[in-house]
Amino acid sequence: MRQYIIAGNWKMHKDSTETRELCEAIRKGHTPDSRFELIVCPPFTSIPAAVESLSGTDIAVGGQNMCWESEGAFTGEVSASMLLTSGCKYVILGHSERRQYFSESDQLIGKKVQLALSSGLLPIVCVGEVIEDREAGRTEDVVGNQFDGIFADIDKTGFDKCVLAYEPVWAIGTGKTATPEMAEEVHKFIRGRIASKYGDESADKMRILYGGSMKPSNSTELLSQPDIDGGLIGGASLKAENFLGISSTVK
Ligand code: PEP
Repeated sequence: MRQYIIAGNWKMHKDSTETRELCEAIRKGHTPDSRFELIVCPPFTSIPAAVESLSGTDIAVGGQNMCWESEGAFTGEVSASMLLTSGCKYVILGHSERRQYFSESDQLIGKKVQLALSSGLLPIVCVGEVIEDREAGRTEDVVGNQFDGIFADIDKTGFDKCVLAYEPVWAIGTGKTATPEMAEEVHKFIRGRIASKYGDESADKMRILYGGSMKPSNSTELLSQPDIDGGLIGGASLKAENFLGISSTVK
């Protein structure tokens, strides 16, 4: 039985004060439940506030990105060990906004995944197709190539520590959700790809989250699909009632 993950990607929202308020509201409304783990991923500057507000709870904190090198002259970057020592357990890597606005390639994302793992952070690795790919029937090719590129140099021990997120780019922040059937089809495909590369045990254990306009009104159906093991949630994670509303639909 895979434990679900409900993770909030706050993107560039919530300063430290707002972070404390949101964490307080999440903390108050959340009852620990072995069926799922809650994670919040605030912007870098708000991580200490989130870690402090959530201390003593089972709610984990994650970063939204990190540098591909461990330290050095990389102005504006944040390292894996900085995230770890700030109290992060997870880091989101390869989000489509990083690919789109910061030209991140599968190879670079793979480097980050390796560094995160060797530093003790658990990567949440994102893959997903753009609308042109879906309309041209290339979804599986694109997602499969992203998977192969990112995990080219990652062994089974490292891979087993990761979490995957399937995020169709056309559904992120648009209000357009993949239907549960569309999402399940790709999740199943990804699990098959994992089985081919890392074996059935890794495939059975891997948590594959869905991301793309998930909200309390559509999460019940999405989360009831056999290969969907949680959500990576943007917009709806910025309000405690919506974020917790989604977690309450985990069965
Ligand atoms: C995301 O940014 O990972 C995401 C899924 O955003 P939204 O829920 O707003 O579509």
